[in-house]
Amino acid sequence: MRFVADKMLGRLTKWLRIIGQDVTYGPHLSGYGLIRTARREGRLILTRDRSVVKKNPPDYLLIQSDQFREQLKQVILACRLDPLKNALTRCVECNTLLEPIPKEAVQEKVPPYVFSTQERFSFCHGCQRIYWPATHQQKMLEELKVLGF
Ligand SMILES: [Zn+2]
Repeated sequence: MRFVADKMLGRLTKWLRIIGQDVTYGPHLSGYGLIRTARREGRLILTRDRSVVKKNPPDYLLIQSDQFREQLKQVILACRLDPLKNALTRCVECNTLLEPIPKEAVQEKVPPYVFSTQERFSFCHGCQRIYWPATHQQKMLEELKVLGF
């Protein structure tokens, strides 16, 4: 399942990407921009904007809450996502799938403490960011626990 999120849903977008979901997001994505992208790319619309519903959109999910935790819970339940299955496989910032990168290759690019304490790293070819599991994983598991997953 692929998503396009309206511009009010930045934090939700981040969290959906953390659990590995493919989410297009950007400042141009509201109203008809949202609908065009959804049609062109075959994505489910996530929106807080009730007026989108009147514009004859393709499939959409009207997000009920202002709180990102409730929003995330709504999407996970409505779309029957498994939040742990593909977690941490996608860049949170640009939506690109991450690829493993050998430890030797990141020595100059991550803080020394991280280099000496981490063994596995991933790389985003979209924005050149380097990821390592520790901090992200811990935070993610805590959040999902709050949500009851
Ligand atoms: Zn990226």
